[in-house]
Amino acid sequence: MAATAVFAPCPDCGEEIELWSQIKVGEELTCPYCEAELEVISLDPVELDWAYVPPAEDEEDWDEEEEDQ
Ligand SMILES: [Zn+2]
Repeated sequence: MAATAVFAPCPDCGEEIELWSQIKVGEELTCPYCEAELEVISLDPVELDWAYVPPAEDEEDWDEEEEDQ
């Protein structure tokens, strides 16, 4: 019995990404075409969305501002 290939379009570049058949909601992957960080948000049909990436913290900038006060 062959493994079932699952395809879902990348929300960033629109290319169809081949996924493994045992994909789960919340699974994270990287688009092989545009290297976007993606997350599975739905299985029927399979939908991908950008994985949540915490905003970069400019800790040094914050420290400087606090020191000014
Ligand atoms: Zn992509």
